[in-house]
Amino acid sequence: MTPHRTVFTIADPTAPRQRPSDASAAIEIMNSGNAAYAGRGTEGTYEVTVDPEAFGVPRTPGTTIRQEPLAATLSCSDARVPMEQLFGRFTNDLFVTRVAGNVPSPDVIGSLQFAESYLPSVKAIVVVGHSSCGAVTAAVDSVLKPTTHVASLDNPELGNIVATIIPSVRMSVSAITEVHGSHASESASYRTSLIDVGILANAAVTAMALAEQIDREVFFGVYDLSTRLVGIPGPDGTRGGLHSAPGTEADLRALLSTAARALSL
Ligand SMILES: [Zn+2]
Repeated sequence: MTPHRTVFTIADPTAPRQRPSDASAAIEIMNSGNAAYAGRGTEGTYEVTVDPEAFGVPRTPGTTIRQEPLAATLSCSDARVPMEQLFGRFTNDLFVTRVAGNVPSPDVIGSLQFAESYLPSVKAIVVVGHSSCGAVTAAVDSVLKPTTHVASLDNPELGNIVATIIPSVRMSVSAITEVHGSHASESASYRTSLIDVGILANAAVTAMALAEQIDREVFFGVYDLSTRLVGIPGPDGTRGGLHSAPGTEADLRALLSTAARALSL
């Protein structure tokens, strides 16, 4: 197999910095960047043209770069989910907040409110969950085995993250039970399935909470570690890319129901 190579080409440094004019343009840039990211890495040579500021070098020597991210993100601290890389972005492209389980803690909300209020280049607020999330897994195990949760209270900060995710897990339990019946919990793949739906629910609920707190449309998606694509479940399979947060509780329930129907239990 030919080793993979990615070649970076710096765009014309005298050209003005290209920035999206609205949310849909920002989301399109991120979605196409993720598609490109998912497509490379195993073999072949890819040429990527990047802004002169991509590696932190200012256009004018001796100056500093003015902060101009196109989007603000909330994602998990998981080392396998670097926001800039998986969206094909670089320095000064994203205002990134990361916390285990991508939970909307007060500091995170404050950081995103700062981006919303003081960075006019920010055209979209985005929440990204990811498959195999350890924080959601801990919340699922707390629901399935309450003694685990009680033990986690020895560490109140960690317990707080888990407690924030538990309502999303409980909604996922309801969605799976409604679709597959009460015996679904006896399936060997029930825990794994609950983690998958819980990850989706946690990202969607967080995006809904942020939309309410920041009073702005918020987008969300789940990054799949195996395909390296961001998407959410749809009636006909995965709907690729980032999507608007559910607008109502009914929309959220419909989303989780769709995810539950895709399960083999
Ligand atoms: Zn995680």
